[in-house]
Amino acid sequence: MVVATVILLFACAAVCNCVGPEPPGGFEAYSANPEENCKVPWHYDIENDTFGPYCWGNTWKNCYGTKQSPINIDTEKVSYKSFSPKYNLSKELSGTLVIVERSPKFLVNERNSLYNLSQIPFLKKDEMFRLKQFHMHFPAKEDGVGSEHRINCEGYDGELHFVHKKPNEAESETVVVLAIFVEKGDNTELALQGFFENLKEVQKCGDAKNFSLHRLTFLENLEDLYTYNGSFTTPPCDERVIWLIKRKPITVSEEHFEILEQLRYDEIHISEHGNIRPPFPMTVDRKVHANFKVPNGENKENKHGNNNDKNNGDECTEWYKSRRCRKDNDDS
Ligand SMILES: [Zn+2]
Repeated sequence: MVVATVILLFACAAVCNCVGPEPPGGFEAYSANPEENCKVPWHYDIENDTFGPYCWGNTWKNCYGTKQSPINIDTEKVSYKSFSPKYNLSKELSGTLVIVERSPKFLVNERNSLYNLSQIPFLKKDEMFRLKQFHMHFPAKEDGVGSEHRINCEGYDGELHFVHKKPNEAESETVVVLAIFVEKGDNTELALQGFFENLKEVQKCGDAKNFSLHRLTFLENLEDLYTYNGSFTTPPCDERVIWLIKRKPITVSEEHFEILEQLRYDEIHISEHGNIRPPFPMTVDRKVHANFKVPNGENKENKHGNNNDKNNGDECTEWYKSRRCRKDNDDS
């Protein structure tokens, strides 16, 4: 019975991208059945025409929807909007670190830690969302870009996603995800050091560890944000996510990036293909707003010295026009 419950829970985590209620026996139960814990059929090998990211929509039709995420934000098309989300943080953040859906994921233990977010754009000011989990996207070894979102096609070394739902998840149709870009630097943001140090012991599906992080103070400063309506970036790609994207990156050390390279999913390293979905273009009907005045030429001169003006800053979304899923194109 316990096993059945755990299997059900993981089936749910894989299918509805949710983190269910705490399982009987606590979050440690996430390690009770390593096999079931890990198996999602989709992956990030762009050459694969069955379960690779260009072809997810063949199996999960929402993934071919019109409001998919991530996107490349073309800053010339961003409009100003006044909004200022507020975080109310408890002292520590306790939870369980696991490897699921090809990402290292920290599941918040709401018995001890409440991270509440309100004043969210597009919602009523007093509507409150609560942090349920956060996870990290990082690059394939061969390709330096590790962020899912891009700014004028500039990518970062990684991207953290903080996933919020209504306190009573059953009532939460909308999900609010705060994305924070990560750059390699000399030191890892203090509050995240525990996340990476504990990853040394949580290296593969089925591993799990409970611990507390210091208060994530970098979440309190939510000054410069982009926002838009999109989707989950993993199947089934439901289009019910309000994205908040922080302009200013935080840093993570080289040493901690090396720990990410060791993480495994089944028998392969996640870093073989990374865990980022290619970005979608900002098509005409998709609005992105910012609560700051975006300077002219934001990120146009990227760190590789390429000026993206030549190609209008959209070469990172070329795949969308030219390739998509070969299986689709070969129908004729
Ligand atoms: Zn994510």
